[in-house]
Amino acid sequence: MTTEYTKLLPHPTPETQRFWDGCKQHELWLPYCPNCSDYFFYPRAFCPRCFSWDIEWKQGSGKGTLYTFAIQYRPQAPGFRPPYVTAIVQLDEGPRLMANLIDVDPEPDKIRCDMAVEVVFEDVSDEITLPQFRPA
Ligand SMILES: [Zn+2]
Repeated sequence: MTTEYTKLLPHPTPETQRFWDGCKQHELWLPYCPNCSDYFFYPRAFCPRCFSWDIEWKQGSGKGTLYTFAIQYRPQAPGFRPPYVTAIVQLDEGPRLMANLIDVDPEPDKIRCDMAVEVVFEDVSDEITLPQFRPA
C-alpha cells in the first residue's frame, strides 16, 4: 500500500459497496440474478436483463480472457505514467470488466486479444483496492 497514490480513486456507492468490499479482501465478487441464472456487471440495484430487484452476489473466479485493450501513451489524468495498458476483460462468468493489464510489456506484439488473464489486487489506499489483470 502506498500513501502517495495520486490517481483518481473510485467512490463506492450503495450499489457497488459489495464489489469494493470484496476487492479489499482480494476477492472478485459479482452481482448475480437468480431469475436469469446469470451474472452482470457493472453493479446496480436491479438486473439489466429482466429488471428484477432480487439480486445476489457471488464470488467470481477472477479468471477470464482479454476482450480488447489499448496501450496508452499519454496520461489521461494526474498520476498515470505511460505507457500502460487499459483492458476490457471477458470474465469466465460472462460479464466484461475494465481494468489495467499489468505485468506485461506495453508493446503491441506482447499482448493479444483472447489471451488468458487473471485478477490481481492493488491496495491503493486504506479504503480502496483495485482489481487489475495480468497474463495467466
Ligand atoms: Zn435477471
